[in-house]
Amino acid sequence: MDYASRILVVEDEHGISDFIGTILKANGYDVEKAVNGKEALMMIASHCPDAVVLDLGLPDIDGQKIIASVREWSSVPILVVSARTHERDKITAFELGADDYITKPFSTGELIARIKTALRHVKAKECALEIAQKPRYRLKLLTIDYEKRRVWIGSEDVHLTQIEYRIVELLSRNAGRVMTYDTIMKQIWGPAVVQDHQVLRVNMANIRRKLEQNPAEPVYIRTEIGVGYWMAEDE
Ligand code: CA
Repeated sequence: MDYASRILVVEDEHGISDFIGTILKANGYDVEKAVNGKEALMMIASHCPDAVVLDLGLPDIDGQKIIASVREWSSVPILVVSARTHERDKITAFELGADDYITKPFSTGELIARIKTALRHVKAKECALEIAQKPRYRLKLLTIDYEKRRVWIGSEDVHLTQIEYRIVELLSRNAGRVMTYDTIMKQIWGPAVVQDHQVLRVNMANIRRKLEQNPAEPVYIRTEIGVGYWMAEDE
């Protein structure tokens, strides 16, 4: 393993989330956390974790629905960690596509062993963002540093919100091709929350206000009318 596997921990109880996070980090994994279903779907779609540790009892979306939704577009290993011990809960989770089911309480050794197994079973990682990972993007005055997650126009720091940054990162990593509104929506907000494109248009207007000298005639992020957005290739 030449890089630390990234595990997304989806858990609304902070005590448990911290406990799992600590165990994982102590074993050399990178840890990201989501505290509800909406956040989980968004992060799975955009951050490409190597595995997901999923609590079923979340405040907004039931964990079972999350498994079903993720399986429509991703084969990322999902390990359910749940207080639900009924057989039918386990069966449903597996039928929907969970890779493993660990009941609370569990031992640290058990959790790590099962994560190792799940990661071994990962075949080809399926993720739309899994493309040539360049550290930077440059076009005219625009610089995007993917590692620092920062954006500059000339020497001026551009302050983007998380969502705005992720849209810019997505478009620049796919520079040279048009990304449709639906594709962008799915990548940023997750497949479960695709509704109309208004939220994307609002974010794009804010991004352009921050990046472009004349937002009405954008030079960095272009519109393909009725289709989507695109950015020119890196210089
Ligand atoms: Ca819970």
